[in-house]
Amino acid sequence: MEFPADGLPARVRIHEVGPRDGLQNEKTVVPTEVKAEFVRRLAAAGLTTVEATSFVRPEWVPQLADAEDLYPRLTGPGGLTGVDLPVLVPNERGLDRALALGARTVAVFGSATETFARRNLNRTVDESLAMFEPVVARAKADGIRVRGYLSMCFGDPWEGPVPLRRVVRVATALRDLGCDELSLGDTIGVATPGHVRELLAGLAEAGVPVSAIAVHFHDTYGQALANTLAALERGVTTVDASAGGLGGCPYAKSATGNLATEDLVWMLRGLGIETGVDLGLLTATSVWMAERLGRPSPSRTVRALSHQE
Ligand code: MG
Repeated sequence: MEFPADGLPARVRIHEVGPRDGLQNEKTVVPTEVKAEFVRRLAAAGLTTVEATSFVRPEWVPQLADAEDLYPRLTGPGGLTGVDLPVLVPNERGLDRALALGARTVAVFGSATETFARRNLNRTVDESLAMFEPVVARAKADGIRVRGYLSMCFGDPWEGPVPLRRVVRVATALRDLGCDELSLGDTIGVATPGHVRELLAGLAEAGVPVSAIAVHFHDTYGQALANTLAALERGVTTVDASAGGLGGCPYAKSATGNLATEDLVWMLRGLGIETGVDLGLLTATSVWMAERLGRPSPSRTVRALSHQE
């Protein structure tokens, strides 16, 4: 067999979101040192991009209220090297906090739909873009890389299917602000591969380079890997995933959430696509984290490889 298969990239960069997107919906507050150990283990497993925390107002996301305490444990003396540790920043105040701690990549989080923008940021889509404008401009002026999350790209729990032109409009607006990378979020997990192809074609037509696109799928309807493969076939090489399948969206109807990094690595390995990730170390990390959280990982691959039941 020829590897990687025709039309697929030789290498994929995994943007690991477990410590941030995964943990932020956990009710049990995880001790800061456990979070730090989680990030260190993920890095040791070969993940080169690990989204570490969020500089939102502590009362918005109590689980991540320890960002100032956590971040220096990762970057301080004897800290991680060769690993990018992006952080979420909603506004200039968040950016100030991230810059003070030496973050090299920050992420803003926009929405393709008005209802989610209102619920998540208490703003209209255009008001949220106006809020991001100085954040992105100042970050870029400081040589900081900026990722733009775009939520509800496929469906919205209040508005239903999301028109493609609306996603394209907000995506191009985020690019125009200066975002280096866009992460297209299927926040409630309703996308199917045909829809993924259609959206990626629409973005390409609007002039958004595929090298600037990442995909962020949720496995609510069991489509996350199929959607990922559809994106790889269209040239996407950055994929978001969460170790052990931690987390998800509080608005999704079922408990299943983020695509599990182990499930992703298993598929990519089978396709002959390089990720640099050691699946054994990664699985051991998710089993360890599941013990800390007191329940088994929902990842099929973690269960299969660790014989969890
Ligand atoms: Mg997610």
